[in-house]
Order: sequence, then structure tokens, then C-alpha cells
Amino acid sequence: THFGYETVTEGEKQERVAGVFHSVAESYDKMNDLMSLGVHRLWKDHFVSSLNPGATNPPGRPQRILDVAGGTGDIAFRMLQRAHEFHGNPNVHVTISDINPSMLAVGRQRSLVLPASHQSSLSFLEANAEILPSSLKDNSLDLYTVAFGIRNFSNVLAALREAHRVLKPGGVFACLEFSKVDKYPLLNAIYKQWSFSAIPLIGQLVAADRDSYQYLVESIERFPSQEDFRDMIVDAGFAVAGEGYEDLTGGIAAIHRGIKP
Ligand code: SAM
Repeated sequence: THFGYETVTEGEKQERVAGVFHSVAESYDKMNDLMSLGVHRLWKDHFVSSLNPGATNPPGRPQRILDVAGGTGDIAFRMLQRAHEFHGNPNVHVTISDINPSMLAVGRQRSLVLPASHQSSLSFLEANAEILPSSLKDNSLDLYTVAFGIRNFSNVLAALREAHRVLKPGGVFACLEFSKVDKYPLLNAIYKQWSFSAIPLIGQLVAADRDSYQYLVESIERFPSQEDFRDMIVDAGFAVAGEGYEDLTGGIAAIHRGIKP
């Protein structure tokens, strides 16, 4: 395949991912809506409301959140909305980190229309999730989120270990990612048809970039199953409750959660 990883090194993968997100940054939000028929918004809403940022005991306690591969801000903006408006907790701070300056630039631009109090609780950090900077101290964060980002990392286990390092004991790792629809063969067949035929075509027609969207589809295909990814989270030192994951839309996406003991 065009972006087949079998023979590429970690460094080459990182370069290709950089190229993909540099080329899709401007069209990224529109393409997400088209490719998922708007459903990514529901998944993101559910992800954030299930994490419930800002709900502290006692109320109003500070929380430090890192949204890794935060791209254009979809998760971070929702978390600030939830914490500040829904819970009336303005002491929640979210850092959006991403390896790609073009994605961060779009996020920064989009954040300008947020209320001033949300903007002042938001910061941006250019960083590789696999080697977070030392400014992110050990045991310093309450919540680490990563949405539709981790499958692009060259070394997923290194990123999970970094998540474990920066979280406080009791802190939560939460990941929203495309996953496997193996439990529903009919849905799986329709979904595969959509992924491999429609998405690259939409990429070509709307963003004039078939290759980047072909890469996105292939990266979903290569990502581990719900159970295998859960096992990696446990290997990185997290504790999980129950199965450790929740399927969304039959497993097209899944939420994984781990707690640092
Ligand atoms: N979280 C956002 C969302 O849900 O809309 C953006 C997801 S976007 C599909 C994936 C992001 O992962 C891109 O912005 C890309 O730059 C970022 N990324 C890829 N590799 C990374 C790495 N090693 N460290 C940090 N971010 C990375």
C-alpha cells in the first residue's frame, strides 16, 4: 500500500504522519464531519461527558488536564465547556499538545471565539507524545486524554509510559480511538466498504488529497483490537475497571480508560 508500514522505520512513520496532518490541517474539521457523517461529534460529546471534567469534591478544586494529539481543539474546548459552564468550575486548566504546528495553529485560531475565561484556562504545547517535555512534571496531572491520535504514534507503548509518568496517582488516562467492529459482521462489511471506497474519494474531491485519507483508513486497520490495546494500557502500569473499554457505534470507535494506581 501507499503508506504500508511493514518496511518503514519509526522515524519515517513520524515524518509521514507529519506530512499527512500538515496537508489536512485546514480541511480537517470539515472532513471529519463528512467522513463520519457527523457522528464524531457525538462520540466526542460522550467521551467528555463520561470523563466529567470539573466535577470535583469539594466543588471548584483545580484540575490539570493534558489533551495529547489535541489537534484543532475539539476535545479541549468541550472539556472547558463542561468544567466551566456545566460544573461552574473555572479552576480547570487544559493544555492542548500536538506534534504538528499546523494543527495547533488551527486550534489556536479556533480558540479565539471561546469566552475569555475559557481562553485563559487553555494553553498550547508543541510536543511529541512519546517524549513529553520535562516541563510536564512527573505525577502532576489529573487527566490525560488522547482522541483519534494514538494510532498515529510510532511507539504507542512509549506514549502510554509517558502518560503514566505525568499523571498523579489516581489520575486518569482516557483514549478515544477507532477500533474493531468484529462483533457485528454486517455493520463491519458496510463500514469497511465506506472506509476503503468512500473516504479516499471524499478526500480526493473535497480536500484534493486522496493519499492522506487513504493513510488514515489504513492506520485504523492496523491499530490493535480493543482487548490488545487494553492489555498495552495495563502493561504500561495502569489499572482498568471491568473490560477496560467501552465500544461506541458497535466498535467503530472505543473509549479505553486506565487509572494510575
Ligand atoms: N484530537 C483531535 C480530534 O479528536 O479531533 C485531533 C486528532 S487528529 C486525527 C490526530 C493528531 O495526532 C494530529 O493532530 C497529529 O498531528 C497528532 N499526532 C500524530 N503523532 C503524534 C505524536 N507522536 N505526538 C503528538 N501528536 C501526534
